[in-house]
Amino acid sequence: MTFDEDDITRFMRYVDKLPNGCWFWTGARSRGKGNRKWYGSFRVKGKVVRAHRFACDAIGGNTLKRGEHRDHTCCFSLCVNPDHLEIVSREENQRRKMARKVGAALPEDLSATTLAGGLFGPGQEAAE
Ligand SMILES: [Zn+2]
Repeated sequence: MTFDEDDITRFMRYVDKLPNGCWFWTGARSRGKGNRKWYGSFRVKGKVVRAHRFACDAIGGNTLKRGEHRDHTCCFSLCVNPDHLEIVSREENQRRKMARKVGAALPEDLSATTLAGGLFGPGQEAAE
């Protein structure tokens, strides 16, 4: 992925650091193909990438190798904290998905009011 310091600065403007340590993505978002969870999206150098992927590559310095997946250890798909994203094998990723209840996308200590209105509204295009 190609990016520069300005992209990271721009990225961080969309991050709302929550008391539980999660980096809540407030920018554009879209739904995952398979699991239908919401994920942040971020435009960098004319390409739209997953926000948590950008966080890992640009901030965490972790680029995925073939066959590896990222797993949110906090189970919050809109979290982009690189420390909450663990690189796991495809098998491990699947195993964890099965172990989790469907729909358990939000950490328990996030109150509904914190996220009301923002989380499941229509995604806005990130302003340049
Ligand atoms: Zn998190």
